[in-house]
Amino acid sequence: MEQRALRAAIFAIKAVILAPLFAAYALWCALSGWLRLSGRIQGAKRLLAPTISCPSCGRENALAGRWRCASCQARYQGYVGRCSHCGAGATFFPCEACGISIRLVL
Ligand SMILES: [Zn+2]
Ligand SMILES: [Zn+2]
Repeated sequence: MEQRALRAAIFAIKAVILAPLFAAYALWCALSGWLRLSGRIQGAKRLLAPTISCPSCGRENALAGRWRCASCQARYQGYVGRCSHCGAGATFFPCEACGISIRLVL
């Protein structure tokens, strides 16, 4: 009987100690998930726009046009982010004014 009471007391002490830690962890998971989701929405908005500005000279560069795939060397027309021949994804493309690489994925 005494051992049962002792086990219950230990369980209660553990619960009191661990509950705030679990609550803090849940809050951390929720906040970091929200920040990640917000960043992905901003990235999607950026890539869905018809143009993207150069970080160096500020020129607006069209995301649709004629491109050369860095993977299979094919020339393709359309959205810069995905080669229509081999399916390789592009992570950057050069600014048409200054040549600086513009990142597609942040
Ligand atoms: Zn530029
Ligand atoms: Zn390709």
